[in-house]
Amino acid sequence: MPYKIKDKIKFLSEASKILSSSLDYNSTLSVIAKLAVSQFADYCMIDILDAKGKLLRVTTQIDDKSLHKLAQKMFDFPSDPKNKQAVYEVAKTGNSILVETISEEWLKGASRNPEERKLIKKLGLHSFMFTPLKSRQTIIGVLTLVSNNPKFSYTKSDLLLAEELSSRAGIAVDKARLYMEAQDAVRMRDEFLSIASHELKTPLTSILLNLQLALMKIHSATNQKTVPKDVVKLIETNISQSRRMSRLINDLLNISVISSGRLEIEKEECDLSSLIADILPRFSKSLKRRKTKIVFKKKPGIIGNWDSLRIEQVMSNLISNALKYGNNKPVSISLSKLGNIAKVEIHDEGIGIAKQDQGFIFERFKRAVASKEYKGLGVGLYISRQIVEAHGGKLKVVSQYKKGSTFTVDLPIK
Ligand code: ADP
Repeated sequence: MPYKIKDKIKFLSEASKILSSSLDYNSTLSVIAKLAVSQFADYCMIDILDAKGKLLRVTTQIDDKSLHKLAQKMFDFPSDPKNKQAVYEVAKTGNSILVETISEEWLKGASRNPEERKLIKKLGLHSFMFTPLKSRQTIIGVLTLVSNNPKFSYTKSDLLLAEELSSRAGIAVDKARLYMEAQDAVRMRDEFLSIASHELKTPLTSILLNLQLALMKIHSATNQKTVPKDVVKLIETNISQSRRMSRLINDLLNISVISSGRLEIEKEECDLSSLIADILPRFSKSLKRRKTKIVFKKKPGIIGNWDSLRIEQVMSNLISNALKYGNNKPVSISLSKLGNIAKVEIHDEGIGIAKQDQGFIFERFKRAVASKEYKGLGVGLYISRQIVEAHGGKLKVVSQYKKGSTFTVDLPIK
């Protein structure tokens, strides 16, 4: 154990490098403790403040493994919040404490019972440094470094180094904690999405079925003259709104399936041209409303092994986007085969996508338009890209702002 570090700048820069190498909370704490014990302490303890202001001993490290059992007993002693010469005081004030040499008096103040005092003596603890772990102006914990070498006492200059290490460690711990919290929040959001979309889907399916049944009954009424036209219109509108809601819920469900890694691809042989031709009638109402058209030249013979329902979903997404953002201009769909790759290009002459937005529109919930102008959740492209990539393919965009966009799907044929 060198205790004295010759090149402090090198030590601190290496410490920073090691500390920034992981975002895992527990491994960050253990890296700090190992680092301290390898260079200038016989024991290292890290206490982290919980939400109630209690210090929890989360990491301990010891240099001399033969003292491990005994040291463990000391590590397990709960710190005394009233002790003015140890961790709680540092956590309260944010000021470090240096105990150059343990005295009988310090021992009395530091430990509440004779058993503890006996243990500290037995372990030969000699000199202590307590430094705060701080980040964003807040104290998050305390780093304790101990020497049990009777010939070595920490000095003020050692304390400065410990403070430097502690301040780097505080930032690393905070970063790892924020990352862990963000991961937890994402997990909770995904869980919520999954439960909420399942729960919403059940009543909606029944509403949709009932509306369709009601419409069928009206259409099969013997005397059509008595059927009020506005009621039919209302039911039709409700059916189309329910379908829209069902598509949105499906998108949310897809997101949770993808996030949890449960996206399954069930491949079967399918003809890409027929697959696209089959979904085009779904857009007839939208085309009528927008007074535009889709230009699609059939090209049979591009046959591959794909999940037809999922690829339908991708095509449907891209076509409805081309219509939604297409300024009511015609949309063209072309098909080609390049070696082992089937290529679909969906081109519109709409609003286009600015260069700086083209990278992030494939991310979850990311949009390059104002929600007031264009409705949407910002998940269609994310889901589409995941599906295409799960097939080993690629989904890309080439676009010119205010001129139009071409989305290309490349799918491996075998
Ligand atoms: P949504 O359409 O619900 O926002 P998407 O994930 O399908 O979700 O699209 C993400 C964003 O990409 C859109 O909000 C829009 O900004 C942009 N975008 C997608 N397709 C086009 C297109 N054909 N033309 C212009 N912008 C598009």
